[in-house]
Order: sequence, then C-alpha cells, then structure tokens
Amino acid sequence: MEYLSSLKYVGVWNNISSTKKSLGKLGIEIHDLFGINIQSGNNTLFWYDHWIGGNSLKSKYPNLFELESQKRCMVVDRVGGMNHNWKWKVRPATRGLDSEVDDLNRDVSNVQLNFGMDQWRCKLSSDGIFSVAIVRQLVDKLHTVCPVAPVITWSKLVPIKVISLVWRAAQLRIPTATTLERRGISVSSTLCCSCIGCPECADHVLINCPFAHMIRSYIWSWCGITNVHDSIKTISDLIHFASNWGGNIKKRQRFIVICYGMLWNLWRFRNKRLFHAEGISVYRDLESIKVMTFYWIKHRGDRGICSWEDWATSPFYDL
Ligand SMILES: [Zn+2]
Repeated sequence: MEYLSSLKYVGVWNNISSTKKSLGKLGIEIHDLFGINIQSGNNTLFWYDHWIGGNSLKSKYPNLFELESQKRCMVVDRVGGMNHNWKWKVRPATRGLDSEVDDLNRDVSNVQLNFGMDQWRCKLSSDGIFSVAIVRQLVDKLHTVCPVAPVITWSKLVPIKVISLVWRAAQLRIPTATTLERRGISVSSTLCCSCIGCPECADHVLINCPFAHMIRSYIWSWCGITNVHDSIKTISDLIHFASNWGGNIKKRQRFIVICYGMLWNLWRFRNKRLFHAEGISVYRDLESIKVMTFYWIKHRGDRGICSWEDWATSPFYDL
C-alpha cells in the first residue's frame, strides 16, 4: 500500500491512492486499519508492506533498504527458508551496517511460511472483512466538525440518501427556514409550516413540533415502547436512543431502520406541506412510514420479514 501511494497515478488509481492522504487529514492512518496474515509470503512486499511490527521495514531500516538490489521483492524472496536470502547491491558490512543486519535478522527470525495466499484483514471488524461503512463509523467517531454529532448507524437496510439526511440533520445541516435565514437566504417565514408557532429548525421539524411528537408517539406505541417520549429533545437524542435501545440486537437494528425512516418521512411530509400545500394527516403519514420501512427491510435485507398484516401489528412480530 505504501508502495502504491508513492507512485504517480491518474484517474481512478489516483483517487484510490489519495484516500491515504484524505484519511490522514482526519487522523486515520490507513496502515493501522489493516493487518496481514502471512502464509506463503508470495504476495506481500518485503520492504513496503506493514507485515511485521507496526511499520514497514523500509522505514525501520532505510540504510539497508538503500542497499537492497530488488526493492519490490516479496517476503518469500527473502525469508522463510533455512537461511535468509539477502541480495544486497553492496555488502552492508562495508557501510558499517552489521548491527542493523543483525536487528533485521532478529526481526524475521521467527517467520514461518506456509501454503496459500497472504491475507489482508481489516482490524476494525471482527470477521476481518473491510467495508466502507465501518470506516465511515470510525470517521464519525473521530471527526471533530460537530463534536456533539452522534454515531450514525450505516445500515444496509436503509437507503444511502436517508442515512445522509439523518447524518446532516443530526448536525443541524438540513435547509430549514432558520438555517437558510442564517445563511443570508431570504425566506417568506421562519416559522414551522405545521404548527406556525415556533421557529423552524431541524430539531423542531423532526422532533419537537407537535406533529412530529404525535407521529413519534404512535411509532413508539407500535413498537411497544413506553416512558421515554419526553426524554428525547433533539435529533441526536433520538439517534443515540435508537442505537442503544433494547437488549436484542436484531430488534435494535430494525428499530434503527424505523427511526431513520420516521426522520426521513417527517422531512418529506414537511416538504410536501411547504412546497405542495399538502395537508396534515397523522394516520396517512404513519402508514407511509410503516409501508416504507416494511419494503426497505423486505427488499434490502438478507432475511425474510413477516407479512404486511403482522408488520402493521408489530414491527418485531417475526423476531
Ligand atoms: Zn411545528
């Protein structure tokens, strides 16, 4: 990886290699995210890859690296046999590098090669499989643009556009009337178009507006949740509540889908009211949330889901 990022690429490869730089700006070293299980040593670069210790051997022994005759050699080319197979351009002893050679020999003395491909593992996941979502979660944790932003659950059951809206809403970055006015954009009114009694900010539209409050009450009731309604005052509160709710992980994942679906639809309903003069109907809007989340889980999930009739009774009917 270090070798790749040192080359000059254009196009897609340039974008891929520049990922290292972008993550570095966020305080994330891409090398720290991955580890290598050495097997045959056939597909791991001896000097460039971080396969032994916390750094590359190139960085640890720069003087010896200069003397290496084949800088892109693989692990199997140098170690793993009865004797190490060094190929120096000049004998290190002539440069006074005996002690560095001893250290290098000691570092690789316990390497045992086997059959099979060397395997990269992502250290962030328990199964070693890399996903963009898991890196996104790490960025959310470390990114300091909004220190109060909660950790968003990047569920594959929820469309990306919905997660994106929830993520922006949690940072109060959706275009509500008060936000637009603060940015110098002229708006006819900064009051909420539902209750017409409060300034329209993100937390009001999605959480504190009487309409949002009522929708949430019904959703909570549908989910069998009691006694938490008034503890949620902000979008961050709701996201935090959803990501820690209950003791059953399958139910919690489904509950998160429902909460994100509710936020998405509350924003959608607001836009319909504002731009299409659509009236308020709690029953109709509640049904929209139930239908939308039902189809997300049905069509985006790996496992099945109960019938629509059972879902309408309880979203956890089959769990
Ligand atoms: Zn309102």
